[in-house]
Amino acid sequence: MSYIFMFLFFSVSEVLLEALFLSVDPYMRPFSRVRMKEGEVMIGTQVAKVIQSNNPTFPVGCHVVGRCGWRTHTVSDGTGLTCLLSDWPQDVSMSLALGAIGMPGLTALYGLEEVLGLQAGETLLVNAAAGAVGSIVGQIAKIKGCRVVGSSGSDGKVAFLKELGFDEAFNYKTVGSLEEVLKTASPDGYDCFFENVGGPFSSVAIPQMKEFGRIAVCGSISTYNDTNPQTGPYPHLTMIFKQLKMEGFMVSRWEHKNPESLMRLMAWKREGKLQCREQVTEGFENMPAAFMGMLQGENIGKAIVKV
Ligand code: NDP
Repeated sequence: MSYIFMFLFFSVSEVLLEALFLSVDPYMRPFSRVRMKEGEVMIGTQVAKVIQSNNPTFPVGCHVVGRCGWRTHTVSDGTGLTCLLSDWPQDVSMSLALGAIGMPGLTALYGLEEVLGLQAGETLLVNAAAGAVGSIVGQIAKIKGCRVVGSSGSDGKVAFLKELGFDEAFNYKTVGSLEEVLKTASPDGYDCFFENVGGPFSSVAIPQMKEFGRIAVCGSISTYNDTNPQTGPYPHLTMIFKQLKMEGFMVSRWEHKNPESLMRLMAWKREGKLQCREQVTEGFENMPAAFMGMLQGENIGKAIVKV
């Protein structure tokens, strides 16, 4: 359908959006498998430009983040749209609003501050460490004066983690014994564990926690293809004897803090304290390939599609 034609049907508050960047995220896998029917538009977030508007909150030319799904053009009544930070710097790509200065960056920040209560001098373990969330987790932990150990799935990713200032980084696919490498990386154990992966990694990592250690369960990407719900096993006796605290969370819990938190993330970026690497795939038609590539670990940093 012509987009001008679409505009003819606008109601008073509607806007027409043109996608610039689409986000490629792990949650799309379990969500689409469990909650969507064949033929529905795939869910997802994008940065878009307002190209027609009947809504004064979103004038023509402004940029928004919206949950529009995998679409190049969307008619929206404004529900769920958020304007980009008003003073978004010209030299910072707007795609970061889907990554380090968007949902994944907020996930890292809230997981560390609200769930783990990470303190200077503590040792943190993070897995999927070279990804959108993990790479920001490690860098914020360094800003806070912590020792950071990261796990990721290729030697290229390990080199990236070292560039970011991680104290220790390893390739979990080639280390042999995960238990040994975790012990060597931090012989005294871990105060905090930012968990992105789940499955066997957790069962090995949890016994490496210090007494009163804290675990933030952010994601479980190793299980997103499982057809049966995961039942464990978690090392319960370790959790009891070490008196560990484990808490699952969703980034949306602290939505009311987002404006201030996004400004903090942007400030760290501007000060050169946050490197915001992206894996950019060109072309809307390559969205499925980018999505499958991310699930297979091809991305370093945030996976994005540039329309
Ligand atoms: P990433 O950018 O980290 O991309 C996914 C990465 O996961 C891949 O690059 C790969 O890295 C790793 N991976 C994929 N399959 C497996 C597997 N079977 N076993 C181990 N690792 C695997 O994604 P995000 O940073 O966006 O997300 C990271 C985690 O955080 C996900 O679990 C996601 O669902 C979760 N999340 C949770 C949120 C919340 O509110 N709770 C919000 C946002 C994300 P590698 O090469 O290192 O294996």
